[in-house]
Amino acid sequence: MRSARRPNSPENRQEDREAERQKRQDEQLRAVRKRESIILFAFITVILAAVIVVSAVTKDTQQELLKEPEKTTEKTTESTTEKETVINVIGKNETQGTVSEQDAAEIPETSEIREAEHEAEITEPEITAPPETEPSFETEAPETAAPETPAPETAAPVTYETVPSSVNISNSILIPSWITQHFLDISPKNRPGIALPQVNDIVIHWVANPGSTALGNWEYFQNLANPEVNHENISASSHFIVGLEGEIIQCIPVEEVAYANQPRNYDTISIEVCHPDWGGKYNDTTYASVIRLAAYLCEQYGLNADHVIRHHDVSGKDCPKYYVEHPEAWEALRTDITIYISKHPDIEHEFP
Ligand SMILES: [Zn+2]
Repeated sequence: MRSARRPNSPENRQEDREAERQKRQDEQLRAVRKRESIILFAFITVILAAVIVVSAVTKDTQQELLKEPEKTTEKTTESTTEKETVINVIGKNETQGTVSEQDAAEIPETSEIREAEHEAEITEPEITAPPETEPSFETEAPETAAPETPAPETAAPVTYETVPSSVNISNSILIPSWITQHFLDISPKNRPGIALPQVNDIVIHWVANPGSTALGNWEYFQNLANPEVNHENISASSHFIVGLEGEIIQCIPVEEVAYANQPRNYDTISIEVCHPDWGGKYNDTTYASVIRLAAYLCEQYGLNADHVIRHHDVSGKDCPKYYVEHPEAWEALRTDITIYISKHPDIEHEFP
């Protein structure tokens, strides 16, 4: 049996040293583990931060890629504006196309493929078309709103084929100098070259493309002739386009059919009108030109303002949007035409 511990015995000192050494080892071990924990924590933090940064950068890149089409559109609009002056240089001596009968696949109306405001002629009545969906320029979404599928080229035979191409066209009028004649090339998609046998009404539209210029819309119509551009196989055009600065471009001779007023393309004249925003209200300058042009056409054709109608009145379409939503504004516009006519009784001689 061991006796009680005696202090200061060599054996006890040995044990104390041993315990001391053990304690230091434990402390060193703890320190090492603590350092390892810190390093591991720091490493994990760095990895997490890296993951967050990478995912943020990827997201930014995706958003920029999504925005890319919008930028392209803006650039196109700018270049269109730059070309605005060209219109005055382009000769007015373009010969009017021979009037012939061609099949027209369908009769859309707007200036932009994405507006989907076009309408299928013959094969589908316009009133069955879905309402216009108009992606705003302000949204970042790329233009994905495809127009309703246009009728194929091989659409059913057109009913107006009975209109003889030799019809005696009595609706020729003088075109005053404040209208720029810049005719589209004859093509089944925009200017079919079909005789317009009579004019009973004048139909007003909106281009459904805020901020677009008259020339930009002219180019849109012209490009429909190119199948590489006109993927949607759209047919559309208008006799006249009134621009944001009051300029007026005539795209199609008044003796010929334009594709805007389906199903009344064969006894109407069409006027597409530019507008600054999606509200669709014409600015003052544009409005004044619309009044002047409509009044002039009324006098030329022996019509009064009751024969100036909205696209809406032809087909029920939401066009021209502001003047469909504000019937009182539409009535005011018609009244202004009447007033203009009364103040300019000799209008046909005023604008040689
Ligand atoms: Zn319209």
